[in-house]
Amino acid sequence: MAAHSRPGLAAQPARAEDPSAIAPRTCTSDGEVIRLMANVNLMSDADLARRLGAEGIGLYRTEFPFMVRRELPTEEEQYELYRDLVARFPHGEIHFRTLDVGGDKVLSYFPDMREQNPFLGVRSIRFTLRNRDIFIQQIRAMLRANAGRKLHVMFPMISSIEELRAGRGMVEQCISELHAEGLEFSNEVAVGAMVEVPSMVPLIDQFAREADFLAIGTNDLIQYLLAVDRTNEKVAHLYLPHHPAVLRTLHAVASVCSERGVPLSVCGDMAHQGQYLPFLIGIGVRSLSVEPVYLPAVQNTIARIHLADAQALAEEILAATSVEEVAALLPAPQDEPQAARA
Ligand code: PEP
Ligand code: MG
Repeated sequence: MAAHSRPGLAAQPARAEDPSAIAPRTCTSDGEVIRLMANVNLMSDADLARRLGAEGIGLYRTEFPFMVRRELPTEEEQYELYRDLVARFPHGEIHFRTLDVGGDKVLSYFPDMREQNPFLGVRSIRFTLRNRDIFIQQIRAMLRANAGRKLHVMFPMISSIEELRAGRGMVEQCISELHAEGLEFSNEVAVGAMVEVPSMVPLIDQFAREADFLAIGTNDLIQYLLAVDRTNEKVAHLYLPHHPAVLRTLHAVASVCSERGVPLSVCGDMAHQGQYLPFLIGIGVRSLSVEPVYLPAVQNTIARIHLADAQALAEEILAATSVEEVAALLPAPQDEPQAARA
C-alpha cells in the first residue's frame, strides 16, 4: 500500500511547543510511513490532539455534543462547532462520523430510545435514516463548515450496500439544497463507511468500490463478530481482539483495501494497543486513529517495529486457529503503549 503523504504538518503551530509532542512523521524502524491521527469526542480532545501533533482526526464522534445538551443542537449550532474544529485542524483530514446514538448512547431528551436489545436496535445509521431531518441538518452543517476544503463524512454501523447508498444519497440531497439556497459549502466530499458490522466483510469488495474510504471500528466489529456486549462485564473475558476470527476479518478488509487502493484506517481501541500494532502493520494498515493521549506511545511502539518482521508475524498469526495459539505469538503485553498525561 502506498505511503500516505502528510499534508499540512507545518500548519499545526502548537505542536513544537509541547514537550510530549510527537515527531512529524511516524515510521517503522525501516522507514514505512504510518499516518497517525486522533479520535476526538470533545473540543478538549481536539486541542490535545493538535498540541501533540496528530496528523488529523480519524474519528470525530459527533454524538458527544448531542449527548451533553438538553435538546437537539440546531444546524446552526452544529455548524459553529464543526467550524471550530476545522479551525483547529485547517490542513489535516477530519473524518466526521455522522450521529452514532443508540446502543449505550441514549439521548435523554429523545422519545422512545429505550430498547430491549439496544446494540441490535435503532442505532447509528439506522437512527439517522429513520430521523431524516436530524440527518439532513447534521450533513448540511458538515458541508457548510467545510466550505473551501474537502469534507470526509463517514457513516457508522453500516450493514448493507443500501445503507451506504442511502447515506450518500442524503449527502447529495444536502448538496443540491445548499446549492439552490446559494450557501457556501464543501465542493469536494469523500463518503466513507465504518467497518463495524460483520455483514460488510463478505461484501467488502463492493464496499471498497463504492466508498471513498473505510475505517475499521474494532470496538464494535469485535462485539458483533463474537456476539459479546462490549459494555457487559460478565462477558468481558469473551471480548477478545486476538480471536482468530477477528484477526482474519481485519486481514480480509485490509487486503481488499490495499488491492483496490482504498484509504483505510483503524480507529477502534486495537489501534493503540501495542500488542496488535505489528499485526495491523503486517496486514497492510497504514493509517491509525487513537485517543490523543496514546499518540506518543503509539509512535514510539511503531518506531520499534520492522516491516518485514511484522509481515512474517502477521502471516504466522493468520495461520493460527485458536485464541491460545494467537496469544502465544503476540508480543508481550508489557509492550503496551502507556497513555500520556492529558
Ligand atoms: C468502534 O466501534 O471501534 C468505534 C471506533 O466506534 P465507537 O467506539 O464510537 O463505537
Ligand atoms: Mg463503533
